[in-house]
Amino acid sequence: MDCIFCKIVSGDIPASKVYEDKDLIAFLDIAPASKGHVLVIPKKHSESIADTSERVLSSLSIAVRKVSKALLKDNEGVNVLQNNGKAAGQLVNHLHFHVIPRNSGDGLEIAHWHAKKYADGEIIQFQDRIKKHLKETR
Ligand code: 5GP
Ligand code: ZN
Repeated sequence: MDCIFCKIVSGDIPASKVYEDKDLIAFLDIAPASKGHVLVIPKKHSESIADTSERVLSSLSIAVRKVSKALLKDNEGVNVLQNNGKAAGQLVNHLHFHVIPRNSGDGLEIAHWHAKKYADGEIIQFQDRIKKHLKETR
């Protein structure tokens, strides 16, 4: 499989690693949104949050928290981002969490969107549909 992040895991491509355990590695994004932008990825290839085991996802969450705490020593805030699918902006098809350092006045346009409005009675349709899907989801 031609996956750039698998090649980083195997060491075939170099990366600026900051953390590693048996399930995951964390390394600096080569084209950062801000300096210190870290990616946290599972060692075992999976494409998205939906096809990763709960166990590995738990390990990733704990590592994302650890990396966030480290970045918060030098920065005022962090954004944690995770894109699934082309429509959501995923460019590398190996699950990854972005941890992006934030500081006031940094001018980054992350986590702000033009809010939509529900029509009358529409929110309950979304509520019911998502609840139904959740009942069917493990
Ligand atoms: P996505 O848009 O898929 O959520 O983000 C992929 C991220 O991977 C991008 O921020 C991009 O800069 C980063 N990236 C892509 N290729 C490489 C690489 O070879 N090395 C590193 N360190 N980061 C990469
Ligand atoms: Zn991969």
